[in-house]
Amino acid sequence: STNTDFLLAIEDLTVSFDGFKAVDSLTMYIDKNELRVIIGPNGAGKTTLLDLICGKTKASGGSIQFKNQEITKLVEHQITRVGIGRKFQTPSIYENLTVYQNLEVSYSEGRSVLGSLFFKSTPKLEALIEEVASDIQLTELLDTEAGVLSHGQKQWLEIGMLLMQEPELLMLDEPVAGMSAKERDETAELLNRLCKNRSVIVIEHDMEFVKKIARKVTVLHQGKILAEGAMEKVQADEKVIEVYLGH
Ligand code: ADP
Repeated sequence: STNTDFLLAIEDLTVSFDGFKAVDSLTMYIDKNELRVIIGPNGAGKTTLLDLICGKTKASGGSIQFKNQEITKLVEHQITRVGIGRKFQTPSIYENLTVYQNLEVSYSEGRSVLGSLFFKSTPKLEALIEEVASDIQLTELLDTEAGVLSHGQKQWLEIGMLLMQEPELLMLDEPVAGMSAKERDETAELLNRLCKNRSVIVIEHDMEFVKKIARKVTVLHQGKILAEGAMEKVQADEKVIEVYLGH
């Protein structure tokens, strides 16, 4: 297709598990520098949608284009290479390494095997670590062991590790789960900073948090888009209210 203005174009995407359509003919577009929040009741297909985008699950039909390149059939590591980063809920930081080393390791892991064999510190790497540490507000803690960070800081470090691979699209699954109120506020600010230089897709259950960050919300229900638009509009949508109240 010719959706040249979009960073990500998902068209007619379907995946069936034993005949059950977890994502059902879904069409959705993400702009450059967009922060999009995906909400919806349990089982709506939110996680499956991110799994499809990052190549963890293969579509039964439809297409996913990233920067006008068909990525529907690429495998996970190829999708990482084209510039899509995904953060899962379970943290994967190295507790015994410092914040700096975690970022450094993630940089080399994101490059080719050959690249990491001949890996050495470069001015580019130094500058990137500085920029990422500032984004995730861990500049003061670069020499601190990751294991002693707070829960929120560990989550931010993990986001930082993804940023070291310089994704143009970042996907986060419930980024504020388990965070304190202060950490939630700081994460809202972080997401607003992040989407200045890339697009971000967030799955979120915490509606207060959604209100804080959301510009555009997509509501999924039974693998389809139930409503899409500004949070205020979506919140007032009768179909959405019905699904959330369970009538
Ligand atoms: P959400 O993230 O919105 O809670 P999911 O994407 O996890 O929803 O799940 C959507 C539906 O697809 C659920 O009914 C779930 O049981 C089903 N599902 C997801 N992954 C698989 C799978 N690998 N095999 C079979 N069913 C699956």
